[in-house]
Amino acid sequence: MTGKSYTSWGRFPQIQQQGRELAWRSDPLPESLAGTDSVLPYGNGRSYGDVCLNRGGTVLGTRALNHFIDFDAESGVVRCESGVLLADILQLVVSAGWFLPVSPGTRYVTMGGALANDVHGKNHHRAGTFGAHIRAFELLRSDGSRMLCTPDENSELFAATIGGLGLTGLVTWIELQLRAIEGPMLREESLKFANLDEFFRLTEASDQDFEYTVAWVDCASKGDALGRGLFARANHDSQESGQAVVDPVVDKGPRIKVPLQPPFSLINSFSLKLFNTWWFHRQRRRRQVRNIHYQPFFYPLDSVGNWNRIYGPKGFLQYQCVLPGEEGRDVLRQMLSAIAKSGNGSFLAVLKIFGDSPSPGMMSFPRPGVTLALDFPNSSGVFRLLDRLDDMTREVGGAVYPAKDARMSAESFRAYFPAWEDFSAYVDPSFSSTFWRRVAGE
Ligand SMILES: Cc1cc2nc3c(=O)[nH]c(=O)nc-3n(C[C@H](O)[C@H](O)[C@H](O)COP(=O)(O)OP(=O)(O)OC[C@H]3O[C@@H](n4cnc5c(N)ncnc54)[C@H](O)[C@@H]3O)c2cc1C
Repeated sequence: MTGKSYTSWGRFPQIQQQGRELAWRSDPLPESLAGTDSVLPYGNGRSYGDVCLNRGGTVLGTRALNHFIDFDAESGVVRCESGVLLADILQLVVSAGWFLPVSPGTRYVTMGGALANDVHGKNHHRAGTFGAHIRAFELLRSDGSRMLCTPDENSELFAATIGGLGLTGLVTWIELQLRAIEGPMLREESLKFANLDEFFRLTEASDQDFEYTVAWVDCASKGDALGRGLFARANHDSQESGQAVVDPVVDKGPRIKVPLQPPFSLINSFSLKLFNTWWFHRQRRRRQVRNIHYQPFFYPLDSVGNWNRIYGPKGFLQYQCVLPGEEGRDVLRQMLSAIAKSGNGSFLAVLKIFGDSPSPGMMSFPRPGVTLALDFPNSSGVFRLLDRLDDMTREVGGAVYPAKDARMSAESFRAYFPAWEDFSAYVDPSFSSTFWRRVAGE
């Protein structure tokens, strides 16, 4: 066992988690564990809730599996170990004219974590999920077998493992197809919108011409201003010379850090209202255009180290749901109104429309519809509110994202992921997680 602490990003639930660090991708799983105790791969703990935790069992730390195996700068195919961070990939490939095909809102996630949650980004309407760009990976099972998985070879395990929440075995290496770019800059437009109808109009008018679209929404606004926010749309900047440009920015990590955990959450209904109003009015003009480096565009939160500490010792919960169809739009309105009324919520509420590219994973979360994501301090009343949001999500045939969850019920999970029973056939008998036992009762 190591002295390393294994937590999730929301710091809820709080668990004294045992862990073992893996040293080499060629090593077998630790012998004393295989077949006896349950294990779970652990990437960089950027999941918010309990998909990366295994109370009473052991997690297998993968951060030492951080070697590149191959990078073909002609075709943009990279093969690396599963503990390599997306940040390390960007450092290697951007200057060679390549970019991640799909990126979540932080670059401090491992390749294995990105695969196991089949993460999505601001370009879902164009590129689908991360898993759609994976060409191959190796899966190590607790019986010692190593399976090469591709869309054509062991294709069922391929589909079960992408979005499979680390339950089908340990992914040791991954081969990913990158996307060509001409430089590290993007051209971004930021547009103010007054309400949800305007958000839907903007997204419909933008998804055709812009690779990246996402909106920040003021979750404290009510009445006529319900659902107001800022809509960002961007494309990679094309160089006139047509030549790839060396990235002048060295990744030095977060610029500032939250040094200490305050004794209570700094987010409350007062600070929330104040921040959201200021943020909305900070942009004076209706439309603002700028050239922006990929780091602040994709990863604004990465510039503040340990920002999760601002929620105090009890931690926080994130809620991300997807709501399909026209009905989903009405339910979104009801949700935002319930959230604003409760006085809960965060300064960071995000809206995005998922496109209709099918996700390659049996258990992948993204599906066509509007997705809302926001944080909630772990305070009294928040669990009741989230249960209400779950009822609304279920009613409309939507789903909640396991990567962000720490409390959904087994009943909700089974409604959101009807493939869960077929999926359980692929779960490795020695692998489990706190999340899985809660929702599948196994
Ligand atoms: C600020 C912030 C922004 C985010 N934005 C987004 C976003 O825009 N879109 C999005 O989809 N997600 C987003 N996320 C969530 C994050 O991308 C996912 O939770 C991601 O899976 C975390 O990766 P990790 O390396 O930290 O893995 P962990 O959180 O440690 O683990 C995640 C899962 O992967 C499994 N796993 C890890 N390594 C392996 C392996 N080698 N083999 C098999 N299974 C493995 C674990 O068992 C676990 O089930 C965000 C998170 C943060 C903190």
